[in-house]
Amino acid sequence: MTDQPTDDATYFKVADDIDTLDEVNGFNKSESVHALTDEPWADPLDEGGTDDWRGQQVARATPAEAAEWRAAYATLLAAAKKATGDLEAARSVWEAAQGVATAKLRDAYADYAHVHEAIDRRLDEVSDLREQARKAERQREAQAAAAQAAAAAQAAEDAQAAEDAELGPRTWVTFQPNSSSRKISPDMMVPVIHLADCPLTKGGEHLTYSNDYRFARKAEVQDVLLAGAPRMERGRATSDRLFTKLCGRCKPHASLEAALGETYLAWRLEVESAQEPMPRITAMPKALKLHKEWNNPYGNRDGYTVVSDKYYTEEKLIEPHEKLIGWVVHIEGDRVVSQDHPEKLDWLMAELPKRGFAVRRVTEPQRYGARLAGTECKTAVAVRRMTAHEIRQAKEDAAATARYHRNGAQG
Ligand SMILES: [Zn+2]
Repeated sequence: MTDQPTDDATYFKVADDIDTLDEVNGFNKSESVHALTDEPWADPLDEGGTDDWRGQQVARATPAEAAEWRAAYATLLAAAKKATGDLEAARSVWEAAQGVATAKLRDAYADYAHVHEAIDRRLDEVSDLREQARKAERQREAQAAAAQAAAAAQAAEDAQAAEDAELGPRTWVTFQPNSSSRKISPDMMVPVIHLADCPLTKGGEHLTYSNDYRFARKAEVQDVLLAGAPRMERGRATSDRLFTKLCGRCKPHASLEAALGETYLAWRLEVESAQEPMPRITAMPKALKLHKEWNNPYGNRDGYTVVSDKYYTEEKLIEPHEKLIGWVVHIEGDRVVSQDHPEKLDWLMAELPKRGFAVRRVTEPQRYGARLAGTECKTAVAVRRMTAHEIRQAKEDAAATARYHRNGAQG
C-alpha cells in the first residue's frame, strides 16, 4: 500500500529532538527524534527563510495521525524522564555507599598505620646498612688504587734512582727539533742544551707526543753537543754545519765543562775559533769604531779606507776573511792617493785588537814588480775579526797580567 496524501491531510512543522535520547549511542541513523509540532504549514514547497540547508522541515499528517504521533512523543519523553530519573537516584545511592566505604577504608588504615610505619623504619635501616656497605667498599677500592699508584710511582722513582746511580743524574734537557718544529721555523733546526730545571723547558720533558725535549745524562748530552745541525735555508739543509747551542737563560756551560771535561773544551775551542767575515764596506767605519778617522770624500778629509785587495787576493797574500785598511790623502780635490804613513798603520796595529779585530802586515804582490814584490806593504794592513776564542784568550791574558802585577806589588 502506498502512502499517498489524503484529502484530510495537512502539513505541520517537524522538530528534531537531539537531547532526549542523547545517552543512547546510535539509536537511529540521524541520532535525533523527529517530533510533529502543532504549527501548521500551508505549502510544502515553501522552504521558509531558515538557515537549514534542507529548508523548513514539514510533514503531512491526517488529524488522526497527528494526534497519535503527538501522544507517542509525549510517552517517549515520559519514559526517558523516568529512566534518567531512576539512574540519578541509583547514582546518589552509589555515591553515598562509596562515601561510607571510603570512610571504612580510612578507618581500617588508621588502625594499621603504626605497623606500616614500623616496617618503613626497618626498611630504612636496611637501606642505610647497604649504603654504608657500598661506601666502605668504594673507600676500600680508592685506598687500594691509591696504594697501587703510590707503589707504582715509588717503583718508577726507585728505577730512576737505580738508573741515575748507574748512568749518572739527568742533569740536562736537550731540545732536538723534529718535523713539527720544521713547520714552525724551517731554518732553525739547531739542537739546544738546557739545564734540567730551565724555566724554558720545564714540563716539556714529559710531553710524550712531541719528542722535542728530553732529559739527558752525560752520554746523551755529549751526543747532542757534538751533533750540531746543517744550516737550513728555506726548509732545506745546506752543506754548512752549525754548532749545537747552549741555552742563554740557564747557561749549562759550567755543568757541561764539569761533566765532559776535555770533550767540552775542544768543542768550545772549535765553536769559538769560527772565523766570521769582515763587515760590509759601508758598515766598516762603525764596526772598527773609526768613523771619526775615516776618509771623507765629500769633506776632503784624509783618513782610513778599505784598499783594493785584488792582487793580494789573487796571490793569496790575504785570507778571504781579511780586508786591507790603509790611509788615503786628498790631493787636487777629489783625487786621493795612498801614501806611506807608518804612524797611521802602527796606530791600527795597536788599537784594533782592543776593538776585537786582529791586524797583521802583508807583503806586496809580484804584480807590483820586482822592486816592491815580497817587501812589506807600507800603505795598508790586513784586518780580520778576532774569533771568540781569541777574545776570550785576550781577556784571560789581561786578567793574568793584572794578577801578576797585583801579586808583584804585594811581594
Ligand atoms: Zn735553558
